[in-house]
Amino acid sequence: MSDAYGGPRLRWTLTGKKALVTGATKGIGLAVANEFLSLGAEVTIVARNSEDVNQQLIIWQQAGLPVYGIAADVSTLDGRKVIFEQVSKTWDKLDILVNNVGTNISKKVIEYTAAEYEFIIQTNQTSIFEMCRLFYHLLQNGENSSIVNISSVAGLVSNRTGAPYGMTKAAINQLTRSLSVEWASDDIRVNTVAPWAIRTPLTESVLDNQDFLTLVLSQTPMARVGQPEEVAGLVAFLCMPAASFITGQCITVDGGFLAFGF
Ligand code: NAP
Repeated sequence: MSDAYGGPRLRWTLTGKKALVTGATKGIGLAVANEFLSLGAEVTIVARNSEDVNQQLIIWQQAGLPVYGIAADVSTLDGRKVIFEQVSKTWDKLDILVNNVGTNISKKVIEYTAAEYEFIIQTNQTSIFEMCRLFYHLLQNGENSSIVNISSVAGLVSNRTGAPYGMTKAAINQLTRSLSVEWASDDIRVNTVAPWAIRTPLTESVLDNQDFLTLVLSQTPMARVGQPEEVAGLVAFLCMPAASFITGQCITVDGGFLAFGF
C-alpha cells in the first residue's frame, strides 16, 4: 500500500473521528461506544432514558473520555430533530454514524396489531432512513465517513423472530446497498453488520430459557452465543481508515450460523 495511506498505526485507529452511536446505553451500542472511545474517537450516544444516558456519561467523563449524550427517541420526528440540533451544536462534521437502535415484538404474523407493526417499522427502519438523510451534510464534511447500520441475520433468513423484525432488517440491508452507491462520490461508506444471537438486555430473557438456548446452540457451529464486544470489533474496523475501500457490504457476526446447512 502506498505511503499516502500511512502506516498501520494511522490505519488501525479512530483518532480524530467524531462518532454518533444510537442506542448506546446498553448491549451492542454500549460496546460500540466503548470500542470507539478506546480507539481514540469522540463519541455522542443516544438513548431514550435520560438517567441511563447521564449515568453512562459520568462513568466515561470520570475516566477523562470525550463523550456527549442525548436523551431522545430515534423513532420520532421530534426525537431525531433534538439529536440533529444537539450534534450540530457540538460538531461541524460527522465521521461515523452507527444506526444501532432496533427492537422486536415476536409473534405470529396473524397476531400483530397495526400499532405493533407500525412501532417496529418506525423504530427499526424509518428511523435509520431518516437519520442517514438528516446527517448527510455533516457526513459529507467528515473524512472517509462511515455509516454502519446494525441489521440481523433475521434480515437474511427466517429465524423465529416474527416477520416484521426480519422485514425491517432486510430493508436495512437494501438501504445500505443503495446508499453505498448513491453516496460513494461523497466519500461516505455505508455497511451493515448483521449479528446472530448476542447476549444483551434485549435477548437476556429468551436466552435464559434453557430449551430455546439449546436450540440456538444446536444451530450455531461455534456452540455459544456472542458477546456485544464481538460485534463492536467489526463495527469499529469498518469505520477505520483500514477499511477505506469497503462499502455496500452486509457482514454477519454469527459463530457460523448462516454457513450451517446440515
Ligand atoms: P438492547 O440491549 O435492547 O439495547 C438497546 C439500546 O437502544 C438501549 O440503549 C436503549 O435505551 C436504546 N433504544 C431503544 N429504543 C430506542 C429508541 N427508540 N430511541 C433511542 N434509543 C433507543 O439491544 P441490543 O440487543 O444491543 O440490540 C442492538 C441492535 O442489534 C438492534 O438493532 C438489534 O435488532 C440488533 N441485533 C441484536 C441481536 C442480539 O442478539 N442482541 C441480534 C441481531 C441483531 P433506552 O431504552 O433508554 O432507549
